[in-house]
Formats: sequence, C-alpha cells, structure tokens
Amino acid sequence: MTAVSEHLDVQPIPGEEDIAAALDDLSVPALMASVVCLTGDPSYVRGQIRPREFVMNEFQGKMAEGEKLQLRSQALRAISTWRAAGCPPVSPPDEAVIREIMDWIACEPVPDDYATMYMEEMDLAGTNPRAIPVAAADNGIHARQLSAIVIGCGESGLLAAIRLKEAGIPFEIIEKNHDVGGTWLENRYPGCRVDVASHYYSYSFGPSDEFSEYYAQQPELYRYFHRLFDEHDLGPHVHWQCEVERAVWDDEAAQWHVTFRTADGTQETRSAEVLISGVGILNRPLIPDLPGLKHFTGPVFHSARWDHSVDLRGKRVALIGAGASGFQIGPAIVDQVERLVVFQRTPQWMAPNPRYHAGLKPGEIWAMRHLPGYGQWYRFMLMWQSSDKMLEMVRIDPDWPDFPRTANAFSAQRREIFVKWIEDNVGDDPELLAKVTPSYPPMTKRMLQDNGSWLRCLTRPHVDLVTDHIVRCDESSVSTADERYEVDVIVLATGFRASEVLFPMEIVGRDGVSITDTWQGKPSAYRGVSVPGFPNFFMLGGPGTGLAHAGSVIFTTECQMRYVGDALRLLIEGDHRSIEPSFEAYDRYRDELQAECETLMWGHPSIEHSWYKAADGKVYVLCPWRLVDYWKMTAAVDQDDHLVR
Ligand code: NAP
Repeated sequence: MTAVSEHLDVQPIPGEEDIAAALDDLSVPALMASVVCLTGDPSYVRGQIRPREFVMNEFQGKMAEGEKLQLRSQALRAISTWRAAGCPPVSPPDEAVIREIMDWIACEPVPDDYATMYMEEMDLAGTNPRAIPVAAADNGIHARQLSAIVIGCGESGLLAAIRLKEAGIPFEIIEKNHDVGGTWLENRYPGCRVDVASHYYSYSFGPSDEFSEYYAQQPELYRYFHRLFDEHDLGPHVHWQCEVERAVWDDEAAQWHVTFRTADGTQETRSAEVLISGVGILNRPLIPDLPGLKHFTGPVFHSARWDHSVDLRGKRVALIGAGASGFQIGPAIVDQVERLVVFQRTPQWMAPNPRYHAGLKPGEIWAMRHLPGYGQWYRFMLMWQSSDKMLEMVRIDPDWPDFPRTANAFSAQRREIFVKWIEDNVGDDPELLAKVTPSYPPMTKRMLQDNGSWLRCLTRPHVDLVTDHIVRCDESSVSTADERYEVDVIVLATGFRASEVLFPMEIVGRDGVSITDTWQGKPSAYRGVSVPGFPNFFMLGGPGTGLAHAGSVIFTTECQMRYVGDALRLLIEGDHRSIEPSFEAYDRYRDELQAECETLMWGHPSIEHSWYKAADGKVYVLCPWRLVDYWKMTAAVDQDDHLVR
C-alpha cells in the first residue's frame, strides 16, 4: 500500500448505494481532491464545475446543489471502479497536480511557501518529513550516543517521545500525572472540548478518523492521545506521578541532572545529555486573590481541577471567569443548577460557528477512514481557513479613526459580523447586550467559538451575569460593591499562569543561574525553543510560540520538534557535546519578536486584562509571526546562530 492510503484503514468498502449515501455527507471539494488521488486523473478538478468561493466554516466551495450533485455522481463512478478493482493502493499525485488541487479548493493561487508547508503537513507521499533525520541507533551508526529526558506526557511531550523513539535515541519521560494527556487529562470540566477543529488539532502523522464531532470533547481527545501513546509503546519510558522540581546542567559531564519528586514523596535524580520540556504554558492554574475566598465553606475548585464528587444538581453556583473554559462550563451545567451566577470581568469576542457542537455525519467518518486522501484534503481546507490572514485583524493602524475600539479596517469589518451575531442572540435584552459586547477589537484576547449556547445560557431566568468586580467572599457568598450573591459552590474558571513559563520548576544553566532569574519576568527563547547558557535544553510550547490568530498548537509544536530534531542530528552526526544559541542571536530574535508584537493589539494598553500579557503589560508568550514564517524559521538549525561545542 502506498502513501495516500497508508494512514487509512482501507477495509472492503460497502455497496454502491451506501457509498452514494456517504458521499452526500462529504465536502465535495475534498471529495474531488481525493478522487484525483484515487484515479490519478486531474481532469476531475479541471471541468467547468469548480468551487466558487472559499469561506470560513463552509466546506462546499459555495457550489450550487446541482453542481455538487454532478460532481458527486462523477466521484461515485470513480470510487465504484476503484472498489470493483479491489481497492488497489493509490499513489499521490505529483506536486504540480497537488498544487492545482490546492488552488482549485482555495479558489485562489496558494502561494509557493504555503503550498510547500501544507504538502509537508499533509504528507501524501507518506515520507514522514518531520522525523528526526538520523538513522535509528540499532543500525549502529550514531556517532554520538545521546539520551534525553522529556518533561511531561501531554501533547508536546508525547510528540517528542514519538520522534525520539523513531530515531532510536534513548529517552525517559517524567510526568507529574498518573496518565498521558496533559491538558486533556487534567481538564475534565463539564462541556470541555477543543475549540480548534479536531481534524487540525491532531498530529500530522496521526490523523484521527475516530473523532465523532468537529470539535471533539475531552474524553475523545484523551482517547486520541492515549491511542498514540499505546501505538508507539511508550509506557516503558515513563515515570508516572513524578514531578520535576529541578534540572541542573553539568558542564563537565555535558549532562542535565533532573531531580523529581515521586508519588511516595521521595526525590530521585536522572541524567541525560538532552532535556526537552513539554509542559506548555496553560498548565498551572491561576487562583485569583479574592478577599475572603479562603473563608468560603462550600466546595471551591478551579476548572482544571474539577471536583467530580460535587453534585451540582439543585445548587447555587458562582462561575468566576468567562473565558474559554467558563464559556464551555456555563452552558454545560446550566440545566443542573438551581442558580448560576456568572462573574464576567471582561466580555469575550466569539465567532459564530454552527459546527461547534455538531457531530460528524456517518459518511464523513466513513470517508476519513476509507477514502484515500479525504482526511488530508479536509485537513487542508481547515488549515487554509485557519491561516495567516487573521493576523492582520490585530495589526495596529494608528491612523484608523475608530482606534483602539477596532484596530484597522479589517478589524472593524469583523467586529460588525461578530456584533451582529450577539445582537441576533440577545438583541431583545439591551442590558444583557451591553454587558456581553466587548469594547476592544476582536482577536485581541483569545477568540472563542459559539453556536449560540453561551448567549442562550445567559438568557435563562435562573442565570445572572454580573459584570461588577468581586470585592469579597465570605463563608457563603460572593459580593460586589452593591450586591451579595449567596452560593453553595464556587468554580474558578480563571485561567492559567501563562507568562510564568516553566513555573514552578527550577532550570539551572551553565553558570548556575536559573532560567527564571535569567528571564526576570520576561521569558524569551530563540525561535521559541532554546536559551543561551542552557545547553541542550529545548522547550516545546516555549515563550513566543502561543498561537493567537490561527492555526493549531499541534502544528507549531511539530515545527518546534522538527527543529529540535535537527539540533539533535547536528549533535549526533558531529559528535558534539552541546548546542545552544549565541547570546547575540537570542537577543536579536527577542528584539525582533518584541518589535513585531508592538505592531499588534495584544499588548496594547487599552487591553486591561488578558493572559497574553505578563505583569509588565508586555506580551512574551505569543507568536507574532505568520504560521508560514515560523514554519520556515524552524525548518533547520542555523549554525551561525549557535554555539556548538
Ligand atoms: P482565560 O481565557 O484566561 O479566562 C479566565 C477568565 O477568568 C477570564 O474571564 C478572566 O477575566 C477571569 N478572571 C481571571 N482572574 C480574575 C479575577 N481575579 N477576577 C475576576 N475574573 C477573573 O482562561 P481559560 O478560560 O482557562 O482559558 C485559557 C486558555 O486555555 C484559552 O485562552 C485557550 O487558549 C485555552 N483553552 C482552550 C480551550 C478549548 O480549546 N476549548 C478551553 C479552555 C481553555 P478577564 O478576561 O478580565 O481576564
């Protein structure tokens, strides 16, 4: 079997009637792209009928019903012929045809760099292009024997482990939890689901044909990561329930000594030449310093530490925080509780998205599983929709007359669309409308997805939306200056200590200085990955890599791991002891990144509260580059910018 179908479980496919029914459920542009793969015949995308327009959250190219019908019937004939021939293996089209299909779907020429990036991501040829480019050690050709310690077994730690294993580099994973999954293990609050499309929020090499919803819920995501963990047989590599406290670089031995606390409270130390952090930035809960909170006698818990022993039925619940987590929790618990008091400090922008809670249709699940290339072309559509155009929405135009309520003309245009959505949902309640309509530009804080469930929840008679600041809590209530709200349970959906990167670990570099002291509250990393003075230390999801405009975090961690892999290749092939960026390169990169951030709204003084900002009001954790630029920056290690010893 060749590449296009390699990832797919190509079972004998059903009869023609079943196939016809399945095709009705599909994205016709993705279907025709996969038919070109199946037949090797590009004429399927060269006819008169073609997608008319490529629009966000629309997967049919705005084609008319009759047009879709004709293309589906062509596809049915092609698939039936393939089936009659016994579903033979298929080869990917050549690059020119892939480019042609991309342009056909996108309804515009996809620029060369994007096309190359997406071809790598889709990997239709099945070459695993982001693997660490060294041959496996069992071939006996590694010049330098390296071992690695990976901190964390969430999305990024798991990725690192898979790559290290493929390359034959020995490694151990140290994980504070009892199981794989990171965010998707810890966040089990009601309503928890990903708000990036699942078929993009998945590894490029581990596509999922098992998601039942377009935006998978936590249990499915947990299962997805668990499946990959099992498939790669990573269990023997992990120390579970072991929390890294300290890692110290030993320059003489050219090793990291990593000290962690085990489940029984004892300390252990392991050593390795390479240290990879996969802890992410949205991991340590932010517990707000609310006066009197410790006196509250009922259950109080953070969204990422949900207490499932608490039965919310018939309870009065204070939900503090209306960000990404609160937005999901409110609608999920509203039917159980007697009263829900939502404390919202800042209203959030939300993008209308009818697919947000919707399930995949049976035909789609079938096609993801059995139709060669369909999943990859559907992923291409998601990637192109969630591409870099959105970055321009937060670009500051100081001459824009409506600044800073909107950032520029594009921002103003989107604001209108988003305001209309809010008005359509709660426009008949002017007081609520005013409370939920943000006064800052869209995308300046984390944008949320909505299918109406959040706004509907706020209109329920037993729900209060409180926008006054909380001034105190006592044993049974949460109060603003004017009102006291008696509650039984407090849920803190108050986010994470995002700018305190690597907190609370102590990472000590060559000169005995910790990374926290090096940063002094201004975390930074060369290409988001490494820091001078900390040899062979690499961060996945490090400073300057958070995505706030588009894309999927899994895409960027794959870029980072591909870059780490290139650094490891250099060490191995050159028989080197260590690699780290030079101070000059680090400073230059940090300054360029900061200068770019200054051109965007994320850190603008008018944005009062945002996890994007650090205590000094600056943005250190986000990636201000276009996805395609970051992809290029992390393609290979630039040796001129590094100290290799
Ligand atoms: P968040 O978006 O930072 O929201 C925290 C909420 O708590 C905000 O409404 C914030 O108000 C409020 N808050 C914080 N401190 C407060 C205080 N002292 N008093 C009153 N209100 C306070 O946190 P999150 O909802 O946990 O989400 C964090 C990030 O995790 C997201 O942006 C996203 O990247 C990721 N996430 C993703 C998903 C998903 O994919 N489905 C789900 C959850 C989280 P202000 O807005 O005024 O600061």
